[in-house]
Amino acid sequence: MSSLLSAFYLDVPDLLDDLSYEWSLRDESKYNPHAFSKSKSTGEHRMFCCPIHAETNPSCGIMVDYPYGWNCFGCGASGNLYSLVATALGLKGEFQAQHYIMKNYLNVSVQKRKPIDLESILDGNELDRKRSLFEEDVKKFTSKRHTYIQRRGFSDHTLTRYEVGYDEENRAITFPVRTSKGLIRFIKKRFVDKKGFLNESGIDKKDIVYGLYYIQQAPRPISEMYLNESETDTLACYEARLPAGAILGRLLFKEQVKELVKAGIKTINLFFDNDKAGVQATIDAYQKLSNMSAIRINVVIYPEGHWGIDGTEEKLFKDANDLLLQGKMESIKLVPFSDFLSQLDKKALEIDELDWVFI
Ligand SMILES: [Zn+2]
Repeated sequence: MSSLLSAFYLDVPDLLDDLSYEWSLRDESKYNPHAFSKSKSTGEHRMFCCPIHAETNPSCGIMVDYPYGWNCFGCGASGNLYSLVATALGLKGEFQAQHYIMKNYLNVSVQKRKPIDLESILDGNELDRKRSLFEEDVKKFTSKRHTYIQRRGFSDHTLTRYEVGYDEENRAITFPVRTSKGLIRFIKKRFVDKKGFLNESGIDKKDIVYGLYYIQQAPRPISEMYLNESETDTLACYEARLPAGAILGRLLFKEQVKELVKAGIKTINLFFDNDKAGVQATIDAYQKLSNMSAIRINVVIYPEGHWGIDGTEEKLFKDANDLLLQGKMESIKLVPFSDFLSQLDKKALEIDELDWVFI
């Protein structure tokens, strides 16, 4: 494991950021709320608030390169990377901490698909080391465009912003899916002349909110965003000047909630599809968001008929992209989740398998 650590680049500021979040979820954090936070660079070290003694000004330092040792100039505590992770997460042993690092930071699944460029790591060039393994793959597609995607109502500006391209060989539109940190986890490919996607198997995307990376690149911090099911809906929102992200499916995962919290999102407007599954996704997302965060939650009501509210027949507008195409994006309404819930016709919904305890 140690040799593995030395061969990979570990982004220490990102790690501290994550540890600070993990710490904030634990009871212990109320006695030392700033632990792992306020991190700043001093060159070879990164200073942060000590988890062992309560403080408000960072006096703990960790090496930003292997072997990532840390020590506190305030209380004298010190240790290795794994003891730091174990402290943050309340883990019993180093083995679990190793597992956490490997799973979340060493990107082993990515490495399997393409050998890591060890030379650039040994060069010590930080920019090279940080660069995703797939930037070249994205560029290969972004130089091409297919009219299919333009017919969906997207301007060149939006397509450029989201790095949308075209894969001629597979006749598919390409959407790079980046993590919050900008790494390209995979490229989603949507066929242009048949339904469906070309999927790579075994890709973990539970921790990715599509589009969140681009939101974090905005010149001014964005704290309110729309949440969709698919990448084209997110693009549709952007086209209508609404910051948005997609959960890439209908289930919001707790890892995705964490990413939203870490990105500083305070208000989420749920903007799922205008069908039964979309309503179920809305309720599911509300439960997870309200259990795990203090994020305020609104729901988008579709104009001219909302599934579950105005009867259950097929609706005029099926999703955000559809609204954009029909010039109706400005007619959506936002209501607090409780209003949405009180308007729902639960009998018509037939979603008694859902957990309604929170009503
Ligand atoms: Zn200390």
